[in-house]
Amino acid sequence: MKKTPRQDRAKEVRCPRVITEYYDGGDGAKRARRYIRGRALGKGGFAVVFAVQEAATGRSFACKVVAKSTLEKPRARKKMVTEIRIHKSVSCDQVVRFERCFEDDNHVYILMEMCSNRTLADIVKSRGAMREMAAACYMREAVSATAHLHAMRVIHRDLKLGNLFLTKEGLEEIKAEGGGPGTDAELNKLGAAKRVKIGDFGLACAMDHDDERRRTICGTPNYIAPEVLKGKEGPGHSYEVDTWSLGVILYTLLFGSPPFQTKDVKLTYKRIRANEYDIPDDPPIADSTKDLIRAALSAEPEKRPTLQQIAAHPFMKLGAEDWKLADEKPAPYVERR
Ligand code: ADP
Repeated sequence: MKKTPRQDRAKEVRCPRVITEYYDGGDGAKRARRYIRGRALGKGGFAVVFAVQEAATGRSFACKVVAKSTLEKPRARKKMVTEIRIHKSVSCDQVVRFERCFEDDNHVYILMEMCSNRTLADIVKSRGAMREMAAACYMREAVSATAHLHAMRVIHRDLKLGNLFLTKEGLEEIKAEGGGPGTDAELNKLGAAKRVKIGDFGLACAMDHDDERRRTICGTPNYIAPEVLKGKEGPGHSYEVDTWSLGVILYTLLFGSPPFQTKDVKLTYKRIRANEYDIPDDPPIADSTKDLIRAALSAEPEKRPTLQQIAAHPFMKLGAEDWKLADEKPAPYVERR
């Protein structure tokens, strides 16, 4: 049989106009919920994500649709089951909410909270680098969301701007104020509530204990940590891979492009292995912010700061006093070493 290339698998999704979820009504009788499919929000390697509306309530969701034909291999099925299990287990207001999942003859459906369909990658792409105060605002949310995951012994392993979703409110507020990232209007709004949520648990792993080490090479080239690239030859990787990716995220927010980016993936990996990157002089950033980037991008995972140390760094406090953050729940920082 001809193999389907990975990038084409999403094409196998032929999602019906009306999606039906059958569920047990509790009294043994089967009940049905119906969802009207709207526009496609985006496409992943295996899935297409659609906007859907629950017919009975009018509630909107994002629905990730995966064709069962792409889940024939046990490995693909296992991956999907792991993604669902982990996403389901990490419920908190800084993670794209998992609602439920169900299947029909041809597809598996994962129903999620509807975000704005804009990620921080879109914001940086359309508006370029942002000033330190705005980046600090986003980083506070990204770091504390990651701390929530780590406290639950989950490593995301694919933290990147494209997986940091702006919520609907976050985006509408930016539009309503007519401002871009970095304007005071936006910062004030962003300071008031959670506006960035982590999504996409396709590469996440749940650890049984903290000393466990993983050896699967996975991630997105620009964001991948050096210890991950060592694969089976190395000592394995753990929570610190997310810290590395947060360093790449911070750098990208401030300078507009990732530190190790080249046109050729192999060359990017070479630069990551050699820890070869520059911190530009333009736009100028504080020396302490440079230190934070360098610390997060330490070649040796054990030299990277803990998330708690990052959260306590002066950069992360930029502008924070101006906002009403007092009633925010503190992140459950867990000392991992
Ligand atoms: P991948 O795994 O390839 O990163 P996903 O399958 O998670 O992608 O999602 C594909 C695209 O669908 C995303 O890039 C985004 O544009 C859109 N999307 C995913 N989840 C949501 C959501 N909860 N709300 C709005 N848009 C979403």
